[in-house]
Amino acid sequence: MNKSFSSINNLTLIPVLLFLFLIISILLVWTYPNYSTQTLNIEINEKNTIALTEPNFGIQSTINKYNSKNQTGYDCEIKKLDFEPSCRLEIWIGNSKTKGIDLSYFEKMTINGTYKTPTSLDSLRISLRNYENNLTSTDTHNHTHTHTETDKHYKFNLVEILSSEVKNPIEVNLKSLIVPNWWLTTVRDQNIKPEVDLTNISMIEISTGLQAKPGLYQLRVSSLELSRNIISIEQLYEYLFIFWCCFIIFSIIKVTIYLWLKIKQKTIDENDLIDINNSLSKHSKQLELINKTDELTMVLNRIGMKDKLMESLNNNWFPMAVVMIDIDFFKKINDTFGHQLGDNVLIELGKILNKFTQSKESVCRFGGEEFIILLPKNNVYTLKGRLEDLRKEIQDADMGVPQSVTISIGAAYCDDKSGFKSLVEQSDKALYQAKEQGRNTVIFYKQVDDSTQSPF
Ligand code: GH3
Ligand code: MG
Ligand code: MG
Repeated sequence: MNKSFSSINNLTLIPVLLFLFLIISILLVWTYPNYSTQTLNIEINEKNTIALTEPNFGIQSTINKYNSKNQTGYDCEIKKLDFEPSCRLEIWIGNSKTKGIDLSYFEKMTINGTYKTPTSLDSLRISLRNYENNLTSTDTHNHTHTHTETDKHYKFNLVEILSSEVKNPIEVNLKSLIVPNWWLTTVRDQNIKPEVDLTNISMIEISTGLQAKPGLYQLRVSSLELSRNIISIEQLYEYLFIFWCCFIIFSIIKVTIYLWLKIKQKTIDENDLIDINNSLSKHSKQLELINKTDELTMVLNRIGMKDKLMESLNNNWFPMAVVMIDIDFFKKINDTFGHQLGDNVLIELGKILNKFTQSKESVCRFGGEEFIILLPKNNVYTLKGRLEDLRKEIQDADMGVPQSVTISIGAAYCDDKSGFKSLVEQSDKALYQAKEQGRNTVIFYKQVDDSTQSPF
């Protein structure tokens, strides 16, 4: 219990984690642009680019490759419409012409460059050319269009952008790529899937668009970058929100468990305290009892009797009687049978006197072989008979010595508080009288002043 409590007890973990997660969250938002996108930069230089015009057997169009320190491209002049003339820049990427790069994970292509056209109705065509491994033969006879060998072996994944919409940089959403029907027609007898395929891109082609008008076309390209968003900012906020909700719930549960265990522990501690307190008070009561008991006869000692007298007085338990008892010729018993047997007589007498007393009545060993019985709230009319019976009982009892043991009894009583003070003295006097009259007798103190109230 204590072990599990201490492990959960460590609530300091929550603010530490809170602080840590806060820092991490801020850093995640702060550095979002650095990790949110995956990019691939494609080098463009004089060597991996080719500028072509098509149809390359005609004289209608001319193309001049443009190369500067930072840019490559072409200056292309289309003379007249003739078999869909076009000019193109081929950027070869990948390890070889047949082994391209898998660009299928990317979402966007950014071309840093410019494109100028004679009219705003012209367009720019961007194609990601995927080398088709299973394309083995081509039919060049049955279409109106003339293609180079390249066109036949490399699938067109293309997008066409109106020149009026071409900006710098030129941004191409790779999701908008399509495979044109005219290319599928050229390879119609092949097992070529009509879907866009970017898994083996060997070449990126930037060319003049469909039905290019006569005039000068100017392309300048300085760099090419492919990118994809690993996580959007909305997603990041969503994940952070979910995480913080979980953390708050976790903290609430932890604090609740902590408080619950603490309350439970407190209750256990309180119960332990109550137990200790009970046992202490029980112990002290036992000690008190020992303190008030005569250890030989197990009746009350003088301290105990004093308490009983006070209790009776405070409760106004009147009428009240005090009886004093003394063993006759006890010295002789001691002398004859020894002190040990004398003690036994005292013990036996204690037992009989204890048995004699009823509720509220108490016995005390006053000293030596003298005992006092306190009889509060007593019916004095029956007392004489009871005392006479007691005297006889002792006389007949086996007191542990081979002879009869007798006692002398002196009794006194009062009806109210006024007589209480002299009760002990009066009973002592009555006892003296009993001794005088030959012992083994019961004498009641005669109240001379108020003899009419005395029942004797
Ligand atoms: P009486 O009839 O006049 O009372 O004669 P008594 O011999 O009883 O009176 P006395 O006062 O002369 O003797 C009391 C004796 O009680 C003396 C003492 O040795 C004995 N005594 C007192 N306390 C104890 C005790 O604790 N144990 C024993 N065995 N004897 C005790
Ligand atoms: Mg005596
Ligand atoms: Mg005596």
